[in-house]
Amino acid sequence: ITIAAPREPAPETRVALVPEVVAALVRPGHRVLVESGAGSAAHYPDDAYAAAGAELVSAVDLSAVDVLVHVTPLPPGALGRLREGAVTLGLAGPAQDRLEPANRRRVTMLAFEHLPRTSRAQAMDVLSSQALTAGYRAVLEAAVRLPRFFPLAMTAAGTVPPAKVVVLGVGVAGLQAIATARRLGAKVAANDIRPDSAEEVRSVGATFIDVGLDAEAGAGPGGYARSLADTAAERQQAALAPHVADADVLITTAAVPGRRAPRLVTASMVAAMRPGSVVVDLAAAGGGNVEGSRPGQDVAVPSSRGGGTVTVVGLASAPSDLPTDASRLFAKNVANVLALLTGDDGELIMPLEDDIVDGMALTHDGRARHGLDSSHDT
Ligand code: NAD
Repeated sequence: ITIAAPREPAPETRVALVPEVVAALVRPGHRVLVESGAGSAAHYPDDAYAAAGAELVSAVDLSAVDVLVHVTPLPPGALGRLREGAVTLGLAGPAQDRLEPANRRRVTMLAFEHLPRTSRAQAMDVLSSQALTAGYRAVLEAAVRLPRFFPLAMTAAGTVPPAKVVVLGVGVAGLQAIATARRLGAKVAANDIRPDSAEEVRSVGATFIDVGLDAEAGAGPGGYARSLADTAAERQQAALAPHVADADVLITTAAVPGRRAPRLVTASMVAAMRPGSVVVDLAAAGGGNVEGSRPGQDVAVPSSRGGGTVTVVGLASAPSDLPTDASRLFAKNVANVLALLTGDDGELIMPLEDDIVDGMALTHDGRARHGLDSSHDT
């Protein structure tokens, strides 16, 4: 089959295929087209793609492509230029304005956001692979802004205690944030509302902050969290407040699928932190876990303890800030989905009976699926 990766629109720096993955696709006989410069922002030069067996093109001829792989949501116009029955594979974003052009061309749109969270799907899970880069990056962003050490330093000039880091929301990003902060030598405490999270937190060497919720209060479908009732959310906030006030660094990653990010930290909780402390809100673009965080910006909040400010970082583009490895993982996820779409003779197949393909397919054969239509968002 013919697979193509376009150059992603700025400010995106990631790319959907990397040379190593191109080589693995070309080996069994697939044809791979890569738009010239597609990998340059992620530090994969055209030469490396060519050496791996890709054909470099100045613009992808969409009418000749079987599967168009991409990172950011495709513009609706691109869908209209694909050949009838082609497949797109990438992040679809809010897809409603793409359903009509996709259906007109009978394009099958496969959206990584809709991949089921099963163990078989883990190798294809873009949300997880990209959340990993976000959790790592969040800690580094905090570390460079913190006017203190992370690790314990025992020196001839005296002893410096380790930084105290609190992580709220312990999914893929939160666990990686804990691991990264621990590697830098910080003391880490964390909270999440899923019943399994206490054990997960302890297994990566952090202390679990027990906010005294009923075991099932935060358990939603598919192993995800659900929104807390108002009384439980208030109880959680009150229990977290002293931990937040005592933290040098606070990292928040809490999310509930399909919902605005839960507000876990109020402006007064931020103001109660010591001057110089740093907050990194990974949910800033999804509504914010922290009151007053702004996506892509640092906000200085006066500390009520006097003499300075708390820095609130709205981290919005963490995977794009780490484009080499974020792209490498993304491309591996892409290749693992492509394997499901390839028949024994190397032909393109669309096994909708497979729960992974079924979940990801937003459109197929001229129709929107999963109850989507142009009046619904995904
Ligand atoms: P996510 O990005 O949806 O949310 C991040 C974290 O925020 C979650 O752990 C969630 O429980 C937590 N959260 C939500 N509301 C909260 C609140 N009010 N207070 C505190 N924390 C709150 O999560 P994710 O990283 O995508 O992972 C969600 C779950 O799915 C985890 O159990 C994870 O291990 C699991 N998972 C499974 C697979 C797989 O099997 N393929 C892949 C990835 C993740």
